Parts: sequence; C-alpha cells; structure tokens
Amino acid sequence: MMDYDFDLFVIGAGSGGVRAGRLAAATGAKVAVAEEYRYGGTCVIRGCVPKKLMVYASEFSEMFEDAAGYGWTVGETSFDWATLIAAKDKELERLEKIYAKNLGGAGAQMFDTRATVTGPHSVKLASGEEFSAKTILIATGGRPFVPNIDGSEHVITSNDIFHLTSQPKRALVVGGGYIACEFAGILNGMGTQVTQFYRSEQILRGFDNEVRDHVANEMRAKGIDLRVNTDLAGAITKVGNELHLTDNNGDKYVFDTILYATGRVPNTDNLGLETAGVELGKKGEVIVDQYSRTNVDSIYAIGDVTDRVQLTPVAIREGVAFVETVFHDNPTSPDHELIPTAVFTQPEIGTVGMGEEEARSKEEIEVYSAAFRPMKHILAGKDEKMLMKLIVSKATRVVLGVHIVGHAAGEMIQLAGIAVKMGATKEQFDATVAVHPTAAEELVTMK
Ligand code: NDP
Repeated sequence: MMDYDFDLFVIGAGSGGVRAGRLAAATGAKVAVAEEYRYGGTCVIRGCVPKKLMVYASEFSEMFEDAAGYGWTVGETSFDWATLIAAKDKELERLEKIYAKNLGGAGAQMFDTRATVTGPHSVKLASGEEFSAKTILIATGGRPFVPNIDGSEHVITSNDIFHLTSQPKRALVVGGGYIACEFAGILNGMGTQVTQFYRSEQILRGFDNEVRDHVANEMRAKGIDLRVNTDLAGAITKVGNELHLTDNNGDKYVFDTILYATGRVPNTDNLGLETAGVELGKKGEVIVDQYSRTNVDSIYAIGDVTDRVQLTPVAIREGVAFVETVFHDNPTSPDHELIPTAVFTQPEIGTVGMGEEEARSKEEIEVYSAAFRPMKHILAGKDEKMLMKLIVSKATRVVLGVHIVGHAAGEMIQLAGIAVKMGATKEQFDATVAVHPTAAEELVTMK
C-alpha cells in the first residue's frame, strides 16, 4: 500500500468543500483543505448570505409605506449604504470564522493559499510545497461570466456589488436570471433608479411561464424599468463618472453603475486538471459520474465547479454523498430530483418540481392556479397579488409542481417541498386542514 501525506485533499473551502472536509476528518481520515481567498466560498462571502441581508435591507422602504394604512406615521426615512455594508461585512467575518473553526476543529489541516493539481494523487501549493493524497476533491466553485463587450472594464459583477463604497443612483442590470432579478429588486428597494435589460422574451427562463409573467409585472409595478428583448448595442463609454450606452432599439441611456449578471462559469482555469487527465466540459466544468467521480479514479468534484445544479444546499448534499461513498464504503449518489428553491426577487418566488409547460410536455396534467391580494396588502392599499399554483398529474393525482410568488414564498416552499418529495396527491393536500388566516392556506383549498 502506498503511503500518502493525506487521505483527502480538498481544493476550495466553500459550502461543499467545507462540509466534505469536516465529515471526512470526522471519520479519522487525514484531511487537508486549501483555500486561496476566504472560508465560506460564494454562498457566505459573495452570494446567498450577503445577498439575503441586502434583500432584508431593501424591503424596509415598502414596509414604511405599508405602515401608513395601519395607522402608523413614519417620519422621514433615509438609507445609508455604508452602514449596511459595514454591518454585512462584520457578519460575514463572524460566519467565516465559524467555517474555519469548524474545519480546524474537525481536525483538517488548512492551507490558506491556492492549490493546483499536479497528478492523480498530487497537489502543489502556491509556495511550491507539494503533497500527495489518496483522494483529491475539487470544490472550487464558479465565478461570474461577463460577455465580451466593448467597455466591459466599466461594468461590475455580483462579486463587486457587495463592496461598492456608495449606493448606485442610476443602475443598469443586465441579465434575466436569479442574480439579475434579485439585484434589480434589491437596488430598487433601496431607492436606486433601476433599468434591467433581458435579451429574450421573458425573464427567469426555465421557471413556470405564469410565474415569470407575474414576477415581471410586479417588478415593473414596483418601479423597475424592465426591458425585455433588449441588449446593449455597441460600446459602453465612460464620460466623467457617467456610463453611456445605446440598446438594440436605438434608445440611449446614462448610468453610474452597470451590473452584469449573465451567468456563472466553473473555476477550473489553471487548476492543473488537464495535467492529471481530468475531463472538462464545454464551459470548463469538471465532468463527474453519479458519485461525483471524474474520469480519474482518485479525483472527485462537487458543487458549482461541476455545473450540475448551482445551489448551496445541493453542493452540501454532494459533499455528504462523496464522504459516504469514499470514506464509509457506501456508494451514494446525491439526489438532484425535486429540489425546492427560492428566488429572492421582490416579490419572492418559491418553487419545487415541474412548471406547467414542462409537465404538459410529459403527461396530461391539471393546473390549479390562484392569484389573490393577500390580507396584509388590503389595509396597506397595495394592489400586489400573490400567485399560487399546483401542477397535478391527471393519471396519478400526484402533485408534480408547486409554485408560489409573494411574501415568504421561500419559507412556504421548504415545507410544501416535503409533501411533493413524498409524492403527495392533490387529495392529500386537500385533506390537510387550512391554517387560517394565512396566505399559505390557499395551497390546500384550491379548486
Ligand atoms: P442564470 O444562468 O440564472 O442567468 C443568466 C442570465 O443571463 C440569463 O437570463 C441569460 O439569458 C443571461 N445571459 C447569458 N449570457 C448573456 C449574454 N451574453 N448577454 C446577455 N444576457 C446573457 O445565472 P445567474 O448568474 O443569475 O445565476 C447563476 C446560478 O446561481 C443560478 O442558476 C442559480 O442556480 C444560482 N443562484 C441561486 C440563487 C438562489 O437560490 N436564490 C441566487 C443567485 C444565484 P438567457 O435566459 O437568454 O440564457
């Protein structure tokens, strides 16, 4: 038996890498984790966590408005960007320390530096130091992709927005996916004048069409200048502090900030994977089998770097399954079916399972859909509607999809997701007594 320096060498200390490293170390294995930037990865440092804090911050403007209908007089309000950014940074530091402490506490050896693969069983640190490992786990995540545009040096990405020293006054958000729609809402809620360009017919491709239309309409009603079938034409030019551009319809704009949220690409550049013979896909993603193993037996990959489902809880599940497979001799595939997810747009989306169009392309379905004004909005004098939708198999009555748009949709879908994952039928939803008065009760009373 060959002697290795480590049983496992993890490259990347994001959600997936940290979980895998901790669980592997807990088995008594000798584990190393290398991280070139900060512990916590995209989710904690420049994704889910800071984004959600900014969503919370941005929601206050509407709450202040709504309060009047309930008898409150709210004095003059103002928002201070720098205060929020500082509070957010403090919280991230706290979380980062917890991540690092948990890893170290589990017994993993941590290298705060970049590591690259030099062979099926070898890893090299930026210092030149080289280690051997029985298994290598690639968990390097992804990064924002910006298309090749003239003037791209003037745009920012979701990595940068968390560090802006002042609040944008007039911002353009380019893209129609999760990140673009979430940040359009965040900035709009904070009082920035927001324009959003999406290149095709409707934002949030891949979601149920009724959900997409509903969210787009509500985003516009809240003040976002959402322009579909719209993209940049020509260059972005900087004039003083202003960014000038023209769109494909010939309309001209001036912004102070342009945020590109046009997808993410896997972090595999110069990682040495080719040296070890690891197969990569078209976007540079590490190709893996159902056990997260690459074509090289000793090298595995989990999380965004594999470009399967780019979600933190999925990366964590992949990490758990990897440890089960490799360190408990129990081959386990991460389950990618029926993943509940939320998009923190304003209004929020919660969704699990198939949308109407996808389900209809597969089998005969029944659709139950309700758009209504939730009770809270009535005294507030708000027209915003909530959408709830169930997609039901005609043959088996199984609920194939649940889609919610509105306040706390993310919280609701976590629970509805359990029922859907268990294969609940529409009749079982209906047999559940409503919780009254709530918005969620609509899920069990839809006719
Ligand atoms: P997405 O893939 O969701 O969206 C990318 C958007 O950019 C699409 O609207 C796409 O348009 C558009 N686009 C792509 N290339 C271009 C281009 N060259 N010019 C103009 N527009 C372009 O990526 P995101 O970056 O928004 O998010 C990445 C992933 O991160 C998500 O898929 C999600 O899994 C995860 N995420 C999850 C969150 C959550 O759970 N709440 C929050 C944030 C991110 P088109 O539709 O035409 O391709």
